[in-house]
Amino acid sequence: MKPQVRLAVRELAAFCHRRGDIDYRFTPSPSAEQGIAGHQLLQARRGGDYQAEYPLEVVMDIGDFELRLAGRADGFAAGAGLLEEIKTCRVEREVIPAAVEALHWAQLMLYGGLLCRAEPQRAALTLQLTYYHVDSGEEWPRQEQHDREALLAFLDDSLARMGQWLAQEHAWQQRRDRSLVALEFPYGEFREGQRSMAETVYKCIAQSGQALLEAPTGTGKTAASLYPALKALATDRHERIAYITARTVGRQAAEHTLRDFAGQGMALRRLSLTAKDSICFSPGKACHAEDCPFAEGYYDRLPEAMAAAVAAQDLDREAIERIAREYQVCPYQLALDLIPWVDLCVADMHYVYSFHAGLAGSYAERGQRWSLLLDEAHNLPERARDMYSASLHKAELMAARREAGGVVKKALDACNRALLALGKEDWLEADYDSREQAPDSLVNTLQRFAAAVSEQLAATPLFLQSRPRLLDFYFECLQFQRVLEVFDADFRFEMTRSGDAQGLAVKLRCLDASRLLAQRQRQPVAVAAFSATLSPAHWMLAELGFDEQAVFQSLASPFSPEQFQVALHTGLDTRYRARQATAPLLAETIAQWLADHPGNCIVYFSAYRYMEDVLALLPPTGRQLLVQSRQWREAERQDLLNTLRGERNVAAFCILGGVFGEGIDLPGDALASVVVVGTGLPQFNREREVLRDYYQDRLGQGFQYAYLYPGMQRVSQALGRVIRTETDRGSALLIDPRYGEPEYRQLLPPWWDYG
Ligand code: SF4
Repeated sequence: MKPQVRLAVRELAAFCHRRGDIDYRFTPSPSAEQGIAGHQLLQARRGGDYQAEYPLEVVMDIGDFELRLAGRADGFAAGAGLLEEIKTCRVEREVIPAAVEALHWAQLMLYGGLLCRAEPQRAALTLQLTYYHVDSGEEWPRQEQHDREALLAFLDDSLARMGQWLAQEHAWQQRRDRSLVALEFPYGEFREGQRSMAETVYKCIAQSGQALLEAPTGTGKTAASLYPALKALATDRHERIAYITARTVGRQAAEHTLRDFAGQGMALRRLSLTAKDSICFSPGKACHAEDCPFAEGYYDRLPEAMAAAVAAQDLDREAIERIAREYQVCPYQLALDLIPWVDLCVADMHYVYSFHAGLAGSYAERGQRWSLLLDEAHNLPERARDMYSASLHKAELMAARREAGGVVKKALDACNRALLALGKEDWLEADYDSREQAPDSLVNTLQRFAAAVSEQLAATPLFLQSRPRLLDFYFECLQFQRVLEVFDADFRFEMTRSGDAQGLAVKLRCLDASRLLAQRQRQPVAVAAFSATLSPAHWMLAELGFDEQAVFQSLASPFSPEQFQVALHTGLDTRYRARQATAPLLAETIAQWLADHPGNCIVYFSAYRYMEDVLALLPPTGRQLLVQSRQWREAERQDLLNTLRGERNVAAFCILGGVFGEGIDLPGDALASVVVVGTGLPQFNREREVLRDYYQDRLGQGFQYAYLYPGMQRVSQALGRVIRTETDRGSALLIDPRYGEPEYRQLLPPWWDYG
């Protein structure tokens, strides 16, 4: 039996008939729920013999494989010979871009062609394209008559073009699979822990499961996860791989590893996705033909750009930029349009887990079976809390108001009045209030504001270009609305006040992202997540939204315990109330450590103030001292890393859990030791206390979830900076009496001896 390629009618239409400019005026589109509700409402109105969601399909022989084209027309009335496609929108009829409307007609004509194939006696059809405004309830139908021959010719022509492309894709996949079957592990023997990890990842994909793997930094987790995932590609266990990272260094490691695999003869199309702000060729411009030349005629030039891209295989940022320049197309959109046609994507967590999850959305739209490899997975719960939260500030509202006029200004005034009224209500504390529901008064006015702006945008695409504050506030408002759609008992509506009336702020705060993450973890065929710091397992499994059947595996270390000597100093209290008294002794202890341990050292503190106080008491050390500052930007951060890489007598004072606390690579002699002052527990503040109360009520584990586990994870990350390769040697000093307590000690990485 020949293999079958599935194709949705919508995809065929987009592939063959999308023309013109990038134009987001059809957005903000309705949410999926609003779209479904709009469709159902109109379908229910039709009556007679109208059949909603009318299924249509054809299976065609295309050389080595069969193409199964399928879809559901929104409605078909057989008696009247009327076939309908419904599109929900939030803009007025006259501003729907012509190119978008042409695409919708193409989709409807393809359905018409399929229907004529299925019904040989049908001589003609009435096609009806209906736009439905989900906010106003207005319905705009338009009809066209098409005879059978025209519809069949349109379908056949489209299928011929698509078939050609798919035949080329099929040949590519066969070549790819042959190369993957033959692929040897490029680094010789697997390291300790690596083979076990590779086996678990393969099983996880083969059994469509979820696995959480803990292994020390330096194990080679990138290669140990990619290798089995690529092998599984060749056996059709899945069709696509998403390698998801939290930081640039993770992306670079994946790209580097894939290049090593390519050096062994691997043929694989791989694409790195870059944030829009970073890769945009026209910073500050609107994504519209009137403002950006790379948006104008984008879809006319896209087919050639795509053909060049898929031939390139290694589509890192530089390659995407080069091809985009050559064909004068937007690099950001080009990368998004390439997702269905590449075998593997390397991308930030945002592309899978945020509300605008472009990668997951693209796979879902095409029904592609994909697996997710999640690097540095311990970062996800905190990132997700941010992604699912939203805040609005009165000062920003007023700044936006100064740039607004007419209905938009009136809508902002109403938002302002709603905010002021909330400010006058009884609050839990003078400057803080927390509620389990967001007030309707504010929600409704924000909705009206967003609708007013989107109407203006539809009529005047560059409306927000000269109004940067209004643009910012509008985007924050859209995020606010997205969070409201998922708001439940895991969220709080919070209000804070600082200084004058302008200091009023409201926030939809996600306390626990696990429910939303669980929904996303179920989208891929399999999820294999890994990190050096995933303990305790029950905490991370729950926080990441994994199923109860998920596998947790703590892997053997490739390093011997002798490579890393960790000392515990439990006689020096670093807790807040004891800090002043113990600071002189702490300064002496650090100086002594530096005297006894030559080579570069990072001393981690949990707070700037504490670090500065101790530094003021530090005796001369003979070291080059570098001290992290709150004001540092990327350049200063890079300077510190370069100094550590180039010098061997540096003592760097940094913040635990900060940018130097994890995700930095200092192999060999670049880092000989670390000192960790305290246990890394997050600062005691109102936000943390709300989190503690939430987890205490839900699980009876308030302190553990809000303080202990995140704190000790930071400590483990700091320890993981020292030993990066099989030949590294180093040492560490952990200073705090709590390291003597089992509750803390059992959370330290299991691979080292702690005396
Ligand atoms: S180049 Fe920039 S402004 Fe132009 S369409 Fe792309 S992202 Fe938008």
